[in-house]
Amino acid sequence: MNPKINVYLNKLQHNTEVLVKQCQDAGIDVAAVTKVFCGKPEIAETIVKGGVKYLADSRIENLAKMKELPLEKILLRLPMISRAKETVQFADISLNSELETIEALNDAALELGQPHKVILMMDLGDLREGIFDNEELHRALKRIKELQSIKVVGIGTNLTCYGGVIPDDENLGRLLETANLIEAELGYPVEMISGGNSSSIYLLEKQGMPKGINHLRLGESIVLGYETAYGKRIPNTFDDAFQLVAEIIEIKEKPSIPIGTIGRDAFGNVPEFEDKGKQRRAILAVGKQDFGTHSIIPLDTEIEILGGSSDHLIIDLTHCRREYKVGDEVTFNLTYGSLLALMTSEYIYKNCIK
Ligand SMILES: *Cc1c(COP(=O)(O)O)cnc(C)c1O
Repeated sequence: MNPKINVYLNKLQHNTEVLVKQCQDAGIDVAAVTKVFCGKPEIAETIVKGGVKYLADSRIENLAKMKELPLEKILLRLPMISRAKETVQFADISLNSELETIEALNDAALELGQPHKVILMMDLGDLREGIFDNEELHRALKRIKELQSIKVVGIGTNLTCYGGVIPDDENLGRLLETANLIEAELGYPVEMISGGNSSSIYLLEKQGMPKGINHLRLGESIVLGYETAYGKRIPNTFDDAFQLVAEIIEIKEKPSIPIGTIGRDAFGNVPEFEDKGKQRRAILAVGKQDFGTHSIIPLDTEIEILGGSSDHLIIDLTHCRREYKVGDEVTFNLTYGSLLALMTSEYIYKNCIK
């Protein structure tokens, strides 16, 4: 059924195995990040087979979908106080930076009779989540020690998300120093030192990960085979484990410039056009409602994407050697943004292929 995403589970398992091996050799445990495919259990199961140690997602709903899978689950986005109870129910571990929230998790954990583990997040300069100030950390630790149902099992950081800051020896070195400080204060060792996301992978190939970092949270690198500090392909991985397939619903020869006075397009923008003469144009039954304004990459490199609206994608077939006809399928490779949007769209059929 079209439009669809084909998910090649064997390729995904291969990517997972390659990254798990690379990390294992450096003494690092992998938490697979499942948010880009909305925690779909069949896909997560494949990644579990690939050998990861944890499943991690930013949304409680996705963790709930995966509750039958036997690994420990990590909630990546800082918990909402209003949903502390669900957090304890569906996540074994959550990432935290606010004492009030940790207190609410402790209350929920006591009520449910189910202790909860936390990873304290440090902001090393990317300016998304994390404790920024050592005084605040000190005060929080003093209080956390008194909370019966909370155990600090790790310290972590997130980089290259908001500010684009790249992980290096300097900022990850500061994370390791802070880990020592926390251990001294709590009087017990913190097991996990979580050195970031797919942007930390490049360190494994280059100078090596700073000694002591023993945990990474990997999404894009597993799913698309890219490290995200410099946007390079990871050797021996697939970038086409997920592909969009859309169907042609019209093919016609038309001019390249609209006829009449140009007002606004469907999204309120005034479009501009270049005269390329007559074109052989096709319309695909997929649109911005499905993948937003993110890039999708046609496998047939002779196809040019012209634009589209909520439900239509217009492509130029003028230079294609292949003879397309109405009803044919066109296949695209995806970027992180388009994959995230497409997996979230209820109009895209998710076709997992063994
Ligand atoms: C999304 C997310 C990740 C995974 O990032 P990738 O770049 O896809 O590897 C890791 N940690 C946190 C906190 C996240 O929100």
